[in-house]
Amino acid sequence: MPTTTTQTSVLERFLRYVQLDTASDPASPTTPSTAKQLVLLDMLVNELKTLGLTDAARDEAGIVMATLPATSKKKDVPVIGFLAHVDTSPELSGAGVKPIVHHDYDGRDLVLPDVPNLVLSAKDDADLAGKKGEDIVTASGATLLGADDKAGVAVVMAAVEQLVKNPGIAHGPLRIAFTPDEEIGRGVRHFDIKRFGARYAYTLDGAGLGTLEAETFSADSMTVTFQGRNTHPGFAHGVMVNAIKVAADFVSRLPKDTLSPERTREKEGFVHPNDITATVDRTSVHFIIRDFETAQLAVKEDYLKKLANDTVRDWPGSNASFEVKETYRNMRDAIAKHPRLLELAREAIRETGATPTESSIRGGTDGSILTEMGLPTPNLFSGQHRFHSRLEWVSVQDMEQAVKTVVNLARLWEEKG
Ligand SMILES: [Zn+2]
Repeated sequence: MPTTTTQTSVLERFLRYVQLDTASDPASPTTPSTAKQLVLLDMLVNELKTLGLTDAARDEAGIVMATLPATSKKKDVPVIGFLAHVDTSPELSGAGVKPIVHHDYDGRDLVLPDVPNLVLSAKDDADLAGKKGEDIVTASGATLLGADDKAGVAVVMAAVEQLVKNPGIAHGPLRIAFTPDEEIGRGVRHFDIKRFGARYAYTLDGAGLGTLEAETFSADSMTVTFQGRNTHPGFAHGVMVNAIKVAADFVSRLPKDTLSPERTREKEGFVHPNDITATVDRTSVHFIIRDFETAQLAVKEDYLKKLANDTVRDWPGSNASFEVKETYRNMRDAIAKHPRLLELAREAIRETGATPTESSIRGGTDGSILTEMGLPTPNLFSGQHRFHSRLEWVSVQDMEQAVKTVVNLARLWEEKG
């Protein structure tokens, strides 16, 4: 199939999907967190059916699954899954997205018309500087673009279309899934990996051309609760112990130059207080704990316990208690047990002419949760850049390379899996 046909297809799909508001909402108790995500999920079910994936369906939790049957006569080709998430970050509006295609980018400043002083400039964006001659899509300045992860959705759909239209490409059974609520960490909580039935999977939710990610943070959450002693303020002398002040003292003892998101990078972990629930009687400081080495999470948690216990010693009558919950785990070790998973991904990327770039994510992906659930799932590039911001952009040519990568992977698993 000529490149231009798929390129049009992936771009057309992308432009259609980003115009639907699919922001997720961490405060919502429902599943999915917002009903508007279902509009895109149902659209995808219809498009999959139109392409001939007759079993395409969405479940109660908003998860879409579909099968692209094997074209290979081999019996033992493993079932491979491809996934992307439909929701966009709640941190910035995703309503009324007006995508703009800047054709044949020549290094000029890209002005976003809805906020005229907002300029996407190659001067402060090295990735963009490398995209001369490509077609760049941005939003208009008023919203995010939603390339995270509608680029991935468009890539998976375009790859399915290409495989359907080219039955001569031999591949094993492929399973496709689109999920809600990734941005709020609940995306695959209801994902039934047995029903999905893939032996291995890939999320299409990575950044620039060639990116391949099989390592994420390991993550816990931790709540440090200070119990004080409340009384009527008029009768407080010698009796009251204000838990708010104990907690403030504790927070002020956290190191200023290390161990925080704003002071660490690359492979360094951190402890991050991100919410406080405060009364005089009882104040809880909520933390997220992150490290690439799972064993280091407990070291960081013990450090916070010691800091809290040291603090309450200075506030007689107060005490501290602790609650730790597991959030997700680095997928590196589980993925390393299946070397084929990354070997074939590297080869699929190389076949497109791109260079595989392996990096670690200072965060989690749906793949980290799926891997922990028993479905090893590294992350592949979809072309998204500057996500969660008004300056979010994607290269059409990168999306096209991602489509080729998926098609190559389907074929390589049949040949070598
Ligand atoms: Zn994403």
